[in-house]
Amino acid sequence: MDALGCALLPAFCTLCGSPLPQLSSVPICAACWTEFPVQSGPSCARCGDTLDNPILASGPTNSGLCRACRLASPPFVRAVAYGLYQDRMKAAIHALKYDRLHPAARRLGYMLAQAIAQLASEAPAEMLVVPVPLHRSKYAERGFNQARSLAVHALDCLRKSHPQWRLTLASTTLMRLRATESQAGLTPRQRRLNVRAAFSVSDPSAVDSKHILVIDDIFTTGATVRAAAQALVRAGAASVWVATLARARRTSSFSRGSSASFEDVEDGLGKPGNSPTADFQPASLPSSQDQPSF
Ligand SMILES: [Zn+2]
Ligand SMILES: [Zn+2]
Repeated sequence: MDALGCALLPAFCTLCGSPLPQLSSVPICAACWTEFPVQSGPSCARCGDTLDNPILASGPTNSGLCRACRLASPPFVRAVAYGLYQDRMKAAIHALKYDRLHPAARRLGYMLAQAIAQLASEAPAEMLVVPVPLHRSKYAERGFNQARSLAVHALDCLRKSHPQWRLTLASTTLMRLRATESQAGLTPRQRRLNVRAAFSVSDPSAVDSKHILVIDDIFTTGATVRAAAQALVRAGAASVWVATLARARRTSSFSRGSSASFEDVEDGLGKPGNSPTADFQPASLPSSQDQPSF
């Protein structure tokens, strides 16, 4: 172990706080990586939301669709996610975004690749991969776009696992025109209004008649990816697909219009301290004073 490594890396798992048995470039323990929550049970064929009542949703015309997708058809063909936005997944995404835990992006990107691979049999053979952009003020503050770094690592993985699939990163295609207000505490309708017209396509000829895969870290109500997909469709995209690392599980209270189950923000505009009811907080990174000095 070199001195620089010791000075830079915490000796404890960022997510659970347990001591790490060996030096690793990613300070997340092996146990935590196996405990990322995955979605189970029937889910909506379009947006991927868990179906509360799959029997009701499996009528002849709306086979396998959730209520939201039956009421308003999404501007994307299908949205997939790797896991649920809770517990360790939530902590890992917070660590990536707010603690700048860049080494975690590779492994999280590989998880995103597994989500994207669910589309391999039905999605077009050639697609532009468009990470949801941050507004430039948010980008200046954070210094990186987590959706883009996840996409880069996912494509690395997919190039090996699906060499025939022509997925090309196009991270400057979509622009965020305005810094949307924080989505925390808003109802689903307010969220839609908040992000409406938030996106624009820099060069419509680049997306005209192209198939697009939109990438983001989190899918909560879907307001952000819907707005991004709408901008791409308006610019002439042939089809839009969506893959996120995690999705929030909707609850019946949510479908009645309450936002109580969403203490977080799919736009990445929230701060960890704004999570009033988070039941799983990341263990904080040890401060520099706790590190061995060399
Ligand atoms: Zn751990
Ligand atoms: Zn749906």
